Amino acid sequence: MALVVQKYGGSSVADARSIKRVAKRIAESRRAGNDVVVVVSAMGDTTDELLDLAGEITPLPPKRELDILLTAGERISMSLLAMAITKLGVKAKSFTGQQAGLLTDAVHGRAQIVDVVPHRVHETLQKGQVAIVAGFQGVSRSNDVTTLGRGGSDTTAVALAAGLGADVCEIYTDVDGVFTADPRVATSARKIDRVTYEEMLELAAGGAKVLALRAVEYARRYEVPVHVRSSFSTKTGTLVTGTYGDPIDPNAPASQKDTQMEDPIISGVAHDDSEAKITVVGVPDKPGMAARLFEVVAGAGANIDMIVQNVSAGETGRTDISFTLPHASTQATVAALDAVREEIGYLALEDDDQIGKLSLVGAGMKSNPGVSARLFGALRDAGINIEMISTSEIRISVVTRADMLDDAVRAVHTAFGLDSTEGEAVVYAGSGR
Ligand code: ADP
Ligand code: ASP
Ligand code: MG
Repeated sequence: MALVVQKYGGSSVADARSIKRVAKRIAESRRAGNDVVVVVSAMGDTTDELLDLAGEITPLPPKRELDILLTAGERISMSLLAMAITKLGVKAKSFTGQQAGLLTDAVHGRAQIVDVVPHRVHETLQKGQVAIVAGFQGVSRSNDVTTLGRGGSDTTAVALAAGLGADVCEIYTDVDGVFTADPRVATSARKIDRVTYEEMLELAAGGAKVLALRAVEYARRYEVPVHVRSSFSTKTGTLVTGTYGDPIDPNAPASQKDTQMEDPIISGVAHDDSEAKITVVGVPDKPGMAARLFEVVAGAGANIDMIVQNVSAGETGRTDISFTLPHASTQATVAALDAVREEIGYLALEDDDQIGKLSLVGAGMKSNPGVSARLFGALRDAGINIEMISTSEIRISVVTRADMLDDAVRAVHTAFGLDSTEGEAVVYAGSGR
């Protein structure tokens, strides 16, 4: 008997029929003797719809109120799911994040989990019942309801798995696992059997939303094995665990051998069209300017990603600084920079929301020369211009025009030999929103 945490994403519980289908799976797992804790997301695109609704009331909803509103989505699905499981003759009880003991800081909209005290979940399991927990939400010390950021139900699931000492955290979604690229963009993407925490971190940070970044960080810190799989099939998915180069265990059961093959050089290609680029033109090229500029950007609450500073044009003594940031932060950042134009003495400000970011990820690139050359060559052959480049030890990211991003993903995927030979990747549901 095992203790399993199962998380079902929005597309797996999009309507009453799907909820009943998922309930069956959960009831079967319980009947097989497992202790089952379920984390559930809001139905379908409910969270987006609630956000749109708030936007119709006011362009800048108070963050506290927005959080309460958004948590309503998961409360609907958790209670319906508990009803569906109960109807199948298995006892189930649903809990909000607060009731389940998900304690967070007070940063509305992207709260961090500070502690997990799941007394009620424990009690429920002890009675042989299934505990259903609303994903994506918690409560701050001052008793305000918080949300964990988009995709946060993954984080709830991993945090509960760590807090309960679960044997595995299963993330059920609308594709068969983590693929070498988003199957909605590259139909030739291949399912990955095993991926290390560090590579999954880079893929998630690069925009592969199949697993939320925070969830992967949490899983790595607490060494929670995560199994990403489909709620629409019974296929084995992707195991997220371990470190690159882990020795192959000769005593491992045969069923695990295939996840212990020699690690590949490249694990996948991620893409992200949620960022924009701001260029500060003609910044005086002297010490302290970048520091001041990014103080202002940070003050506007923007989480910046890439930064590029041009070589200073000698005779003018000025330089251009470009950086990327989430679309949602552009307006506030432009306003904040506008306000210090005279103080910093730059010449102009440009913002561009038509950019896309592609990231090539693979721990093997550390020790394999030629990866960048092959990446840039593939983009050249596809006629795609590179606007910015950034790298980490195991990732190379480039910025392209937004409307070239999908082509870029497919070209790079093919150039690195990642294309599947076993037919097209299946996307079972979801709007991809
Ligand atoms: P859920 O509602 O289950 O949380 P999400 O929409 O958040 O599902 O995440 C699943 C989606 O992630 C897939 O439908 C797919 O389009 C997208 N995705 C992006 N990159 C990848 C990847 N590398 N592997 C698998 N899915 C990916
Ligand atoms: N419902 C939330 C969202 O859409 C959380 C989640 O699905 O993980 O972001
Ligand atoms: Mg998700």
